[in-house]
Amino acid sequence: MQTRAYAAQSASSPLQPYSIERREPAAHDVAIDILYCGVCHSDLHAARGEWEGIHYPCVPGHEIVGRVAALGSAVRRFALGDIVAVGCMVDSCRVCEACRLGLEQYCDGPHGFTQTYNGWIKGGGENTYGGYSRAIVVAEHFVLSVRHHEQQLAAVAPLLCAGITTWSPLRHWDASPGKRVGIVGIGGLGHMGVKLARALEAHVVAFTTSAAKGKEARRLGADDVVLSTDSAQMAKLAGSVDFILDTVSVAHDLDSYVRLLKRDGTLALVGAPATPHPSPAIFNLLLRRRSIAGSGIGGIPETQEMLDFCAARNIVADIEMIAMRDIESAYARLLRGDVRYRFVIDLQSLAA
Ligand code: NAP
Ligand code: ZN
Ligand code: ZN
Repeated sequence: MQTRAYAAQSASSPLQPYSIERREPAAHDVAIDILYCGVCHSDLHAARGEWEGIHYPCVPGHEIVGRVAALGSAVRRFALGDIVAVGCMVDSCRVCEACRLGLEQYCDGPHGFTQTYNGWIKGGGENTYGGYSRAIVVAEHFVLSVRHHEQQLAAVAPLLCAGITTWSPLRHWDASPGKRVGIVGIGGLGHMGVKLARALEAHVVAFTTSAAKGKEARRLGADDVVLSTDSAQMAKLAGSVDFILDTVSVAHDLDSYVRLLKRDGTLALVGAPATPHPSPAIFNLLLRRRSIAGSGIGGIPETQEMLDFCAARNIVADIEMIAMRDIESAYARLLRGDVRYRFVIDLQSLAA
């Protein structure tokens, strides 16, 4: 099926209309008409070739909500017309230990998991194309059910990356009542981190470089807001936080956050800047047995768990809807930190 899309043809070319081929659904495939796709900072890192190994043309987009348009003969979990979602993965080996545990994002198979875009289809060596397009065909294992109201669907899209990428570490490191949890960087991921940590009933401390976001961070659910550029405000929190989730998209000093951790506390990095962070100071780590960790998106079962948790509590992202043709100006604003808090593309705008 020929499908309209937007692609970057190289790291230096702006995204432009492009036509891609989607496969006919095989027995276990679901064909989806895409309604909405969120704009993740990863899309920008990839389209601009900021990470190694980007294949062009690059059709970004991994926060996808759509309607089932066709089903393979063996699919039983979905029906035509169902509202469904697809996140950052479209395949994995399905047999390694990680996959069997529902941690497909850590697949140990020969190719790892297949990314929704810029991923090689297993064996065939073809590139994958993401949600900046009108339709996608995905193996049913990687298709999620959406139980939010129809009017909320655009704001559900960001849950598929920003939501799960913050939910998974918050759960893994047990954000819960009595815990003090910090969220660094109040952008797409960070604003979901604040909402989810609050919903998990932790005490939430938002760290931002943008003084103007202070009031909003409280509205999103932060109990405390700290201007991270103010060393006096930072110093007050030394040794007091159980867990910090760092979503910042550029390299920065990690020591100022490590110092805020209690004994055995963890700073988990989910931001994926183009260049490494400066090396952390060792004494901050060993004196209180603190850790610096990383976390990648989340597995399929926990993504469904997060979507259902959010549907039950009416949690969605704060979004600004854009037309597909506005993607370059949206990227420019994303780079300036000028988004409250996620752009979502209305794919109806991608006309013939
Ligand atoms: P985003 O919306 O652009 O948010 C990033 C936030 O970082 C900004 O809102 C800003 O927050 C802060 N920031 C930006 N520039 C900064 C600077 N120079 N110094 C300090 N803070 C700065 O991006 P996003 O979509 O949330 O993605 C964040 C990062 O996570 C990206 O690198 C993305 O690729 C990565 N990511 C990783 C995974 C994973 O699986 N680990 C998944 C998705 C995304 P304040 O204004 O509040 O300071
Ligand atoms: Zn993402
Ligand atoms: Zn696997």
